[in-house]
Amino acid sequence: MAPLTTAKAAVVVRDLRKEYPTPNDPLVVLRDVNLELSRGTPLAIVGPSGSGKSTLLNILGTLDQPTGGSFTLDGVDPFTLSPKDLASFRSTKIGFIFQDHLLLPQLSAAENVLVAKLAQGKATKADGDRARQLLKDVGLADRASHLPSELSGGEQQRVAIARAMMNSPTLMLADEPTGNLDPKTAQQVADLLFDLASKTGSVLVVVTHSMELAGRFPKRMRMQDGELVNA
Ligand code: ADP
Ligand code: MG
Repeated sequence: MAPLTTAKAAVVVRDLRKEYPTPNDPLVVLRDVNLELSRGTPLAIVGPSGSGKSTLLNILGTLDQPTGGSFTLDGVDPFTLSPKDLASFRSTKIGFIFQDHLLLPQLSAAENVLVAKLAQGKATKADGDRARQLLKDVGLADRASHLPSELSGGEQQRVAIARAMMNSPTLMLADEPTGNLDPKTAQQVADLLFDLASKTGSVLVVVTHSMELAGRFPKRMRMQDGELVNA
């Protein structure tokens, strides 16, 4: 393997391993994942169902712990932090967009975006202004007070993108973000993700089944036999 340089990389993953215990041999999902990402280089990850894409994304999102190897974000290994510091690190450094938007059904679009701030304490007036601005950026200025049930699938996913952007994260993770959308809406949502990530300089990592979506990324990798290989 070519020597890796770490100077500018926001995300550095080395020899990452994830296995699950079973009654027999452990199930090895991630065998040896290596990855280095700098701001401004969006990455698409493709690979068959069950190959470990979500497992990897969840570890990068600090929602799950690796069995071995290391991961640093902005030079910090999140798995060395106390639970309290990890929660704070996650909410300030990482934005997550899931296939299902996971909006809170009883909250308006604007409140759902603000939730990202509430995780850190109280939302200020400036936070409210930023949430409204983000809704404007995702084309939903006039939908701020709508409940998720009053929005289309594409609009719900736009709210989820605005929520992920709320804290200007270093790392934006999206797991099949367009998987539940029709092709035209999927394209619009993908355009938006690209635009916003490049505008803010976040490192964007998108898992997708869509070769069309993956094809638009400057960097593509495939999950294969527990490793990430260039695609
Ligand atoms: P993908 O997102 O590529 O479809 P996943 O990362 O969801 O794949 O799953 C990879 C493999 O890990 C699958 O075989 C799945 O059954 C297994 N797996 C995922 N989570 C767990 C878990 N909590 N316990 C045991 N096995 C799991
Ligand atoms: Mg998955």
